[in-house]
Amino acid sequence: MTTTTKLSQERRLVTAIPGPKSTEALKRRTEATSGGLGMAIPVIIERASDAILLDIDGNQIIDLGSGIGVTNVGNAAERVVDRVIEQVQAFTHTCFTVAPYMNYIEVCEILNRITPGTFKKKSLLVNSGAEAVENAVKVARHYTKRPAIVVFEHSYHGRTNLTMALTAKNMPYKEGFGPFAPEIYRVPMPYSLHWVGPKETITQDALAMVTSKIEKEIGAHNVAAILIEPIQGEGGFVVPPKGFLPGLSKYAAENGILFIADEVQTGFARTGNMFAVEDENVVPDMVITAKGIAGGLPLAGVTGRAEVMDSVHAAGLGGTYGGNPVACAAALGTLETLEKENLVQRSRDLGKVLTDSLNKLAKKHPVIAEVRGRGLMQAIELIVPGTNEPNTAAMQAVVKYCQSKGVLVLTAGTYVNVIRFLPPIVITEELLLDAMSVLDEAFASL
Ligand SMILES: *Cc1c(COP(=O)(O)O)cnc(C)c1O
Repeated sequence: MTTTTKLSQERRLVTAIPGPKSTEALKRRTEATSGGLGMAIPVIIERASDAILLDIDGNQIIDLGSGIGVTNVGNAAERVVDRVIEQVQAFTHTCFTVAPYMNYIEVCEILNRITPGTFKKKSLLVNSGAEAVENAVKVARHYTKRPAIVVFEHSYHGRTNLTMALTAKNMPYKEGFGPFAPEIYRVPMPYSLHWVGPKETITQDALAMVTSKIEKEIGAHNVAAILIEPIQGEGGFVVPPKGFLPGLSKYAAENGILFIADEVQTGFARTGNMFAVEDENVVPDMVITAKGIAGGLPLAGVTGRAEVMDSVHAAGLGGTYGGNPVACAAALGTLETLEKENLVQRSRDLGKVLTDSLNKLAKKHPVIAEVRGRGLMQAIELIVPGTNEPNTAAMQAVVKYCQSKGVLVLTAGTYVNVIRFLPPIVITEELLLDAMSVLDEAFASL
């Protein structure tokens, strides 16, 4: 049914980056759009398929960012496009809380089935990751009748007022945007590369610090939820040491605290599991999803224990656009693609290729302190060789070099020294390896 032809999955440069047309168009961007908006790569995109972005100068760029972990099934994935076209012709909006429709219900049925936990679950759909986090917090407070939310160092949960409060990093997310919402408590995150204590006991030590802080500074009985990203995204792909998430989840259960996994960036096959918490068989009370859920259309979900999700009075939750039918159609196309194309396994397999390539680079280039992550959510952290000092300059130089050769990579990290890799899971191995060879050149050029 799709009539557009796919772009060839190869890198091709016909001008400098940015080319003349992008350069002209970016002047209009500067004139018309808020200076508060960032930009990872200075080109204007005309089309995209799978892991290739085509700019208006005709350059084909390898996408190792997926629009920040969104186009897991590939850009303009066929099933997504087909379902969206069909839906947009049928109807575009009624508001689910005014006149409901089936595909919202179907997306919720699938979320209830594929998220961890064999208990009865129910879901709610909204527009963005931040809105989903806000709703999870609303529901958790309503259900537990407790005010406090526990979050972690290096965490990122969004840019609305509540989610800024939940987010750790000041620049650029919070600077000048306060005052922030109350009853948010931040506890230590076992970030092994920068952990000051002994590495051998990091899990137990971090758990002891977290639980002591909760008991001494908040009171466990005041805590509605512990909210955590199973692998931290914007914070720099910080992977908690084995045992940390299970320990937290156990502590939460013993104290009537809801354990909420923010799987916005880690979800939908990104880490080599459908959800990242599955790696250690952690079963959250609530799972927050967004980014990879709908192949690029704005959609997000909160899925949780039925008794928790049903604890809210009717009409206490909602929103005009939440679970828009076109976005839900895209989600159904995405979820079908994930299952039919076995993208969980693909993420694992290609993840090995990525780990191998990055480890080889780390061996060659001492500026790379660590390779970490799982599946197709991996990162390298850059330091000044021989120290533990963050190397922002090297990160910027490598990213710029990659861009000039037609490879889009994203950065991250509390210390602004992490390069992260989030390619579409459908990326070909050939394309991934081509990007890795450019990365190698970039490090050699430092
Ligand atoms: C991106 C992100 C969010 C916010 O999602 P938006 O759709 O940008 O509002 C929340 N949590 C995590 C872990 C994210 O990566």
